[in-house]
Amino acid sequence: MSGRYYHPEASLGRRVLLAGDEGHHLATVMRVRIGDEVCLFDGRGRELVARVTSVRKGTVELEVVAERELSRELPRPVTLAVALPKGERQKWLVEKATELGVHRLVPLRTERSVAQAGAETVARLRRVVIEASKQCGRNQLMEVDEARPCTEFFQAAMGMGRRVLADPHGRPLAEAAVFASEPVCCAIGPEGGFTEAERAAALASGWDAVCLGARILRVETAAIALAAYFSLRQAERPPAAPAPNAPP
Ligand code: SAM
Repeated sequence: MSGRYYHPEASLGRRVLLAGDEGHHLATVMRVRIGDEVCLFDGRGRELVARVTSVRKGTVELEVVAERELSRELPRPVTLAVALPKGERQKWLVEKATELGVHRLVPLRTERSVAQAGAETVARLRRVVIEASKQCGRNQLMEVDEARPCTEFFQAAMGMGRRVLADPHGRPLAEAAVFASEPVCCAIGPEGGFTEAERAAALASGWDAVCLGARILRVETAAIALAAYFSLRQAERPPAAPAPNAPP
């Protein structure tokens, strides 16, 4: 099989078309031929095997011949709410969060935000999620929400399990006693930090301010440190089948 390709409408027995970058990659770079098998995923938890039925310039038609539910998701959801950094650092954050199994990313608007995550940014980040999912074997896409004001989100997140606010003046994370069995939601501020009013709003809504060490981390480092901490505590076992791109 030649890599993994995303098709949101793929299902057993259906004929699907891969065009654009995906079709070009399969047809021109991978040089698939009629009868070859390709691994697809639908972004909602299913992995599918599809057989090539025609190849034209930059377009590949396939018939889905097998499908299975195959979860590589964390048992307990981890949500990251982040005042996004700019440019490549933003992309890096989304790629690594996807690999670590973060369930949902919420771009936060804060008083000191440097990057305004508009519709274009959100669309671009969703494409980064797809690329990272192809590589890491995830069949369910990490959700990327529209940006929202942090104070509104602090309140809205009340039913989302334990909530930790990354705060250099908080108590050490290890003392915060977040159990591996609970869903967790983490908020990370912008380069200039949350304002006192934003911090107070979070604490008033039951967020726990936690410190990640004596050094000041960049936004994306703090976000990925938290994602790694909560992801790795869940002690997942590998699924029955290896990720299709896993090295031997
Ligand atoms: N002077 C800012 C402050 O006091 O918050 C530093 C901002 S830091 C560059 C960006 C964000 O990363 C912070 O708002 C916080 O959420 C998180 N962060 C960075 N270092 C941290 C640490 N050591 N402990 C907890 N959170 C940290």
